[in-house]
Amino acid sequence: MEEKDPTQTKDPTQTPEDEYEKICYICRRPESKAGAMIQMPGNMNLCHDCMQKAFDAITKGGMDLSQIQNMPYMNLNLSDFANLKLPNTEIPQKKRIRKKAAKTPEPSFDIKDIPAPHKIKSSLDDYVVGQDQAKKVISVAVYNHYKRIFYKNSPSKEEDGIKIEKSNILMIGPTGSGKTYLVKTLARLLDVPLAIADATALTEAGYIGDDIESVVSKLLAAADNDIEKAERGIIFIDEIDKIAKKKNTNTRDVSGESVQQELLKLLEGSMVEVPVGSNQKNALTPMATVNTDNILFICGGAFPDLENTIKERLNKTSSIGFKAELKDRYDDDPNILSHVINKDLRTFGMIPEFLGRLPIVVTLQKLTTPMLVEILRRPKNAIVKQYIKLLALDEVKLVFEDEALEWIAREAQERETGARALRAIMEEFMLDIMFEVPKDPGIGTVVITRNYLEKKGGPRIEMRG
Ligand code: ADP
Repeated sequence: MEEKDPTQTKDPTQTPEDEYEKICYICRRPESKAGAMIQMPGNMNLCHDCMQKAFDAITKGGMDLSQIQNMPYMNLNLSDFANLKLPNTEIPQKKRIRKKAAKTPEPSFDIKDIPAPHKIKSSLDDYVVGQDQAKKVISVAVYNHYKRIFYKNSPSKEEDGIKIEKSNILMIGPTGSGKTYLVKTLARLLDVPLAIADATALTEAGYIGDDIESVVSKLLAAADNDIEKAERGIIFIDEIDKIAKKKNTNTRDVSGESVQQELLKLLEGSMVEVPVGSNQKNALTPMATVNTDNILFICGGAFPDLENTIKERLNKTSSIGFKAELKDRYDDDPNILSHVINKDLRTFGMIPEFLGRLPIVVTLQKLTTPMLVEILRRPKNAIVKQYIKLLALDEVKLVFEDEALEWIAREAQERETGARALRAIMEEFMLDIMFEVPKDPGIGTVVITRNYLEKKGGPRIEMRG
């Protein structure tokens, strides 16, 4: 075999032909825009669209193709091309488009890359306040999920017939209790792509709304169209309670039960054809096949009134004599959701097959006032820390009195949107401060007091020096 001379370097001015994109001879679009080219004799490339147009013209009107601008040779016999000396159809060097460099494949997934559950939990603790049980369950579920992928792909896998099943998660908790935030934090910590979809937007294929497969498209986009990366990602489907089976209805249920039915195949793992770079399927978008088997699905919802179903069931199962006493006990239980069982969810309108594919159920607690205070000041990117940082850039010290933070938390509690209300309230009060303070360079410290929040006075200002 001929050995290459290592000292022989490539001439940098000479670029191999296949580094450039082919360009359609008629419409001049490059192949990255117009799709794969059909190569014609004489170094001529045609895109599918132009080819199609040419054929349409022949079949419909018997048109004289020599009349088509830019295409003088179409009425020649193909065999003539071989002997034909064509004028230069080359694209001038500077107009050519260089193909995107092929990606170097990432090293494959290793079990050592998966952090142990206690590490996942402690990282979550830095961001998510409370919800301890949920964080624990999720950390274990995620750890097992990625171990399952590793085991499945492991070449040294023992053929012992043990198949580790998928551990998709159902997350139940009041609005603003941190469901989405938990998943977002998790995906960021694990460095896996995440797609968040809203179940209310999903409809059965063929109806107005997004197809079920659009959630996979979103994930592929989040993974920069890297199929392998997407196949290890997380899909969070929010508002899953909104696709509960409608009770007592005779009309066709296109957004509830049938959406649950269609989600089944995604949840358990199937090959899905999705358009790349768009969520609309059409003839021109390239398609990719994604295997959803290794994608972790997390479905979340507030499931309003589920608490009453749980209480009712618990009351029914308790003996008659103790019934009244137990009823009171459950009425006062702030964590009643944690008693949920499959049957309650079925009563709510989730179909058994759907629930069967979400074997892990986690419940999140309604946030209490002390938890809301914690959210304001403790997490790594807590709202209070963000404002302190913003004013520190103006060399002004910002202090929040404890009483002021409690006031904000109580106010948020009344709005019934969980932690979501905190930022809105904070912004209402911080607007004036952020506007006024930079006006006076003498201001050294601003103290947010409860009086200021109650509109009984201004913030306490301390001057420099
Ligand atoms: P939902 O449960 O409705 O999905 P989100 O996760 O969207 O609620 O919460 C809204 C916002 O409130 C989040 O972006 C986050 O900033 C904050 N938040 C909610 N719960 C928590 C929590 N337990 N710890 C820290 N921040 C939280």
